[in-house]
Amino acid sequence: MRALMQERQLLISTLIDHAALNHPTVEIVSRTCEGAEHRTDYKTVRSRALKLAKALIKLGVKDGDRVGSLAWNTHRHLELYYAVPGMGAVLNTVNPRLFAEQIEYVINHAQDNVLFFDITFAELITELRPRLLSTATFVVMTDRAHKPPGLDNCLCYEDLIEAEEDDYQWPQFEETRASSLCYTSGTTGNPKGVLYSHRSTVLHSFTACSMDGLQLSSQDSVLLIVPLFHVNAWGVPYASAMCGAKLVLPGPWLDGQSLFNLLRAERCSVSIGVPTVWLGLLKFIEENPHLISEKLTLARVLVGGSAAPRALIERLHHILGVTTIHAWGMSETSPLGTIGNLLPKHRSLPLDEQITIRAKQGRPIYGVEVHIADEQGERLPRDGKTAGHLKVRGPWVASGYFRGEGGEVLDADGWFATGDVASIDEDGYVQITDRSKDVIKSGGEWISSIDLENAAIAHHAVQEAAVIGLAHSRWQERPLLVVVARPGIEVTSEQILAFLSPRVAKWWLPDDVVFVKELPHTATGKLQKVQLREQFKTFVFSSDRPEAAPTRSDVNAATNNG
Ligand code: AMP
Repeated sequence: MRALMQERQLLISTLIDHAALNHPTVEIVSRTCEGAEHRTDYKTVRSRALKLAKALIKLGVKDGDRVGSLAWNTHRHLELYYAVPGMGAVLNTVNPRLFAEQIEYVINHAQDNVLFFDITFAELITELRPRLLSTATFVVMTDRAHKPPGLDNCLCYEDLIEAEEDDYQWPQFEETRASSLCYTSGTTGNPKGVLYSHRSTVLHSFTACSMDGLQLSSQDSVLLIVPLFHVNAWGVPYASAMCGAKLVLPGPWLDGQSLFNLLRAERCSVSIGVPTVWLGLLKFIEENPHLISEKLTLARVLVGGSAAPRALIERLHHILGVTTIHAWGMSETSPLGTIGNLLPKHRSLPLDEQITIRAKQGRPIYGVEVHIADEQGERLPRDGKTAGHLKVRGPWVASGYFRGEGGEVLDADGWFATGDVASIDEDGYVQITDRSKDVIKSGGEWISSIDLENAAIAHHAVQEAAVIGLAHSRWQERPLLVVVARPGIEVTSEQILAFLSPRVAKWWLPDDVVFVKELPHTATGKLQKVQLREQFKTFVFSSDRPEAAPTRSDVNAATNNG
């Protein structure tokens, strides 16, 4: 029997319509690329998005066409988030941190008809333009007064808006239509496009607004540090309109001081970013201790994108007095997959034990099913110990990549292999131990590089740490710890190993520690381990050198093997 419920389609345009009607004066504050602060509200964002949609139609953009953006978090980029999908086209947010050749690849692969870009990328676009074969129109996202020289063949964003009225009616269409296209960072091979739908985006927004999700609500002022060019900024621009949260957009100004100033001035209650952003902010506050007494209204921070080390969660708690909500996801999961809220039974636990739970990546939210499997695809137990390949399934999980790149990505039952290795405990808390290509196999057992990195980062002299597995003649692979020391602090590898020794299983202890000035990162800020392994491919462990006396790994690994 068919139900008698209205079949209103879940369209992105309904989000901004709702916000403009019910939260019209809620502010969107941006630090623009030009440097100035800009204040607008949901009603104005909608009005300008409608004008922009009309302008796009005049530029020849049709249903399903791709419109590219190469831009920071500002009100103009937010307007594109509504204008482009709202009129039936697909917004391709391009990550400016990719190499120039990858940016060129992404824009050409997506076949962006129109490309919007911030003034900070004027030189890059001038250089790439002759090779962007599908792109007929280039729009620089500023007003005439700030248009950089040499861009005569580009349109000006504010001119497009000024020329239109906001009397456009959003078209109605099926919610399964594509709305946006984000490419993965492509650490091996070319980036691949994840194509989201209106339906997946709106469903995902409900989760972000739920109490066991990101808890976004009309009470919040959200400092959105995760970029609009990466996984739709975790869907937060859409979820914020759904619940009427105030949005604070930092533009290209992501240093500790700029973020601190925004948190204070805009009375932010929540902020969302990858771990390195928080490290930068905490460093700034520690270098300016008088600021600690400043009363921030910040209550919680949402961290994901890579593992939030326990030490970071502790510092956020002790220095800023905020609760950390640790989330896991990926471009292919829109990205929300698991979210680390505590259960009622955890409320009475000592802080230390609560932090242990918060350091896990959280529990699956409704909409994303997860399980772990072994090499043969057999399901593994949810015992919090056994690690296996993490698989996910759900209405905002990708079913394939744009233009079929990468071939079939789902198994026969519709599960997507994330490429992450994880354990799941009895309560459903997922703990990511590695990317599957980064796990260290020592004497037939797996060593978690993420656990070792998190343990190392807790040492006061360690600014950043990466652990990679390198060949070992006896144990197949052993871990090498690569450390960036905090400036001005002397530390030796022996001291770091002594610090780690009581904190990790004996046979996990890295065989050597080496110091470097900096570690390689991907365009989305993750450790670039492929490159690091390449850098150290000729490294021979001290325990593996011919003259080596009884070795640490012999002792360590022997402990493992009984
Ligand atoms: P991306 O598609 O660029 O967002 O990258 C997704 C990948 O980032 C995941 O597959 C994980 O390897 C990693 N990742 C995301 N969130 C976390 C987290 N909280 N802890 C550990 N790794 C994470």
